[in-house]
Amino acid sequence: MVKERQGKMKISIIGSGYVGLVSGACFAELGNRVICADNDAKKVAALLAGAVPIYEPGLKELIAANVMRKRLVFTSSIKEAVVKSDIIFIAVGTPSLENGEADLTGIENVAQAIAQHMNGYKLIVEKSTVPVETGEWVRKTIATYVKHAEGFDVASNPEFLREGSAIKDFMKPDRIVIGAESERARKLLMSLYKPLKASLVVTDIKSAELIKHASNSFLATKISFINAISRICDKVGADVKEVAFGMGLDQRIGEGFLSAGVGYGGSCFPKDLDAFITISERIGYDFKLLKAAREINRQQQEFFLSKIKSNLWILKEKTIGVLGLSFKPDTDDIRNAPAIDIIRALLAEGARLRVSDPSAMKKAKQVLGSQKITYCRSGYEAAKGSDCLLLMTEWKEFLDLDFAKIRRLLKRPLVVDGRNAYDPKKMASLGFTYVCIGRSV
Ligand code: NAD
Repeated sequence: MVKERQGKMKISIIGSGYVGLVSGACFAELGNRVICADNDAKKVAALLAGAVPIYEPGLKELIAANVMRKRLVFTSSIKEAVVKSDIIFIAVGTPSLENGEADLTGIENVAQAIAQHMNGYKLIVEKSTVPVETGEWVRKTIATYVKHAEGFDVASNPEFLREGSAIKDFMKPDRIVIGAESERARKLLMSLYKPLKASLVVTDIKSAELIKHASNSFLATKISFINAISRICDKVGADVKEVAFGMGLDQRIGEGFLSAGVGYGGSCFPKDLDAFITISERIGYDFKLLKAAREINRQQQEFFLSKIKSNLWILKEKTIGVLGLSFKPDTDDIRNAPAIDIIRALLAEGARLRVSDPSAMKKAKQVLGSQKITYCRSGYEAAKGSDCLLLMTEWKEFLDLDFAKIRRLLKRPLVVDGRNAYDPKKMASLGFTYVCIGRSV
């Protein structure tokens, strides 16, 4: 008999990454018994030893507290996760394939494993971001491979947390989306989420899957829209920050996601746009709007690079300081981070780099190596002896830098700001050549 008492459910989360660990720790915090499973044995060993393999504010403490209360455990055995729980969330990665499609191998593998080990009714919930109709495939896969016909439901419960504020986003979400086909599944998920007191959207599975892809694509499009406006501002000498402010006050538009800069990155927007464009094509719709949003994002990096080049002229053997490597502040995630792309482009032109990031240095070193790159402990160290300083990620410690000191450390007082984070007048008064995006200086 499945226990439906609020806050006391037996849950497993398969895939213990940014989403799986945060969801697992938060469900445990709400009083549930949670098993976080992962097929990466090294990651599970680290978690069992008390280490947290990602940086997310507050996560280490939340995990430690719930492990101590014996409400959160880790395993590399998918069997254990399936057998010991009633609700199984799938939170594995869904990266892009070469052709832009979402790679759903992890989802299929987990669906097969669940089918093999099912020992009673299970509710299987997609938390990973997946193309529309994936729920249908998960259901078919489980039905095909199931050993004992005990009954099961599939549901969709897309996750909207943002890295850097993931725990807050999970605990205080704007909305919780539940896509389910049976009353039992709906009730179980509604009861699980009841303590969060958030707006619930209860719908069918396909609509739930589409809500996630549509939301991420809309947000990415909003960023590309303001980036396109920044190009116009640049040409006519207007200020994109002023334009965005004026637009954002209109409640129909809203102020969020109207920051012009070097473009969006991260593990979600680029891959989700690719996947949504591809799945749309497959079902017979040419999503031209999203193709344009993606193209504008690509061009924005070129635009940023052209600004560096037009100020530095020859890049070969020049030293460029880089503030920030992660795709946004308060995370160590460098997947599709604009900083990494820009650094690669500068290296290809023969520049030397001095880079710094409060938490993403280890991951960056793994993908960029050390040739021609010096990893620096602070923004000041990155500026020392550099011909130019780039702001790539608006970490607080980079916003708070003492620019009079930076001015003394740089070989040449040139700052190229990919996030429009500094005050142009102040930078000019300190003697900098200050270059930003879509703002007259
Ligand atoms: P991640 O790469 O950090 O974590 C995925 C985890 O799944 C990894 O630890 C991996 O080892 C594990 N895994 C892969 N295949 C497995 C298998 N067959 N069995 C067991 N474990 C397996 O990814 P993430 O950032 O947590 O994203 C997970 C999903 O959530 C993606 O679909 C993503 O689009 C979506 N999502 C991510 C975010 C975000 O901000 N990161 C936000 C909302 C939704």
